[in-house]
This record gives sequence, C-alpha cells and structure tokens, in this order.
Amino acid sequence: MDRDQLTEHLRFAKELGVSGVSRDPDWRRREHVVTEFFQEAPPPITIALTQVEALAAIRADIGDCTRCKLHAQGRTQVVFGSGNPSAELMFVGEAPGADEDLQGVPFIGRAGQLLTKIIEAIDLRREDVYIANVIKCRPPQNRNPEPDEVETCEPFLFQQIDAIHPKVIVALGKFGAQTLLRTLEPISKIRGRVFDYRGSKLIPTFHPAYLLRNPSSKREVWEDMKLVKKLLTEGDK
Ligand code: URA
Repeated sequence: MDRDQLTEHLRFAKELGVSGVSRDPDWRRREHVVTEFFQEAPPPITIALTQVEALAAIRADIGDCTRCKLHAQGRTQVVFGSGNPSAELMFVGEAPGADEDLQGVPFIGRAGQLLTKIIEAIDLRREDVYIANVIKCRPPQNRNPEPDEVETCEPFLFQQIDAIHPKVIVALGKFGAQTLLRTLEPISKIRGRVFDYRGSKLIPTFHPAYLLRNPSSKREVWEDMKLVKKLLTEGDK
C-alpha cells in the first residue's frame, strides 16, 4: 500500500468511526467481529442538550481558536458571549474592543456601559439577556472585521442563536445587522424594522458606540427598544 492509499484507507476508517489502529497480527483474524459489526447500521443517537450544555459545546469547539488571522494579530483571548443561556432577548454586536479583549466579556467598555443602560431602560438587567458578537476576537486597532473573518466566525454566532433561541434579537449596528440579515442595506434604512429570523424576531438598531458619537440618535434607539419590549411581552415564545 503506498502513502496515498494508506491515507485514503485511514480517512475511510475514521469516517466509519474507527478510533485507533492495532499493529497486533491477531487483530487481523477478527473477521467475524468486523462482519457482525457492519451488518446493520447503528441507530442514530439523538441527544437533547440543555442551553447551557449546547453553549458549552460551542465554546469547547471554538477552543483557543486559530481559524482566522486575528489569532496572530494581537488578540488576548476569544470573547465568546455572556449572559442568560435561556434569555428571551439577545444582543449581537460587532467584535470585542480593547476592554473586552482583556477581560473576555463582551460590551464592558464605554459602549457596553451604554448598552447596559439601554437594557435597564426596558426594565431588564444585563444578567437577564445574552450578549455576543459576530467576531469573537478583537481586530487590531479596532478596525472593521474583514469578510474572511466574518465568514470564519459567523457559524459560531448562528449556533449560539440556535442554542438560546431567544424571542427577540437586537442586531447592534451595521455588522450585526448585515451579517444576520445577509443584506447590504445601511443600518439607517433597516433599523426599527422587525424581521423573522431563525424562529426569532430580529430588530436592527444603532450600535451604542455610534450613539456615543451621535447622542441625538438615542431617540431612535429608544423607539426601537420600546418595540423590543412590546414583542417580548406579547404572545408565547
Ligand atoms: N463593540 C462591539 O461590537 N462589541 C463589543 O463587545 C464591544 C464593543
């Protein structure tokens, strides 16, 4: 068997679920075990994970991620997300900044403090909601995330949304909204509108960092948050 055949053989074995190989010659005489084993496909195993377990599994899968170039561009750690795994309301931002990168928690810098006030304005606490970003690692100098970084990281956000299954998702700013809605429409056009999204309602609004620079837009965000509150209190999940 040459090297390519061996590689293919091992790849196929792995697909079948073989978890190791033996060099013991007696192993080759175990044909009966092999034929019995493969006569019937094993029944599929379905495991219902709790939201906590599902989030833990996603976090474990991300690990100390090196999938995109950001791992080598000065990030301190992966910033996964934080809050209530059974939250009815989830916020999705862009990417961690300097404070978040150091502490491993999303939205704890100035923009985060404003987000906390926005959450409290609709009579919720930060611990009641779940907060995550499209990108889990800080881009250098807080530059915008690049398309390859979004493409690599977004599946983990989608998995987080599916695990939590919130009633309402608020997409904060252009990156959150455009990534989730697969649109290039500017945030000023789509904010305040309600979209159906993966079994949840999604409302884009301005990013708190934008509000720090443009305080007059807080009025629109307040309108959007009143709508969020209405959606949270009406109907069942
Ligand atoms: N801005 C974001 O989009 N996310 C954070 O976690 C912090 C600032």
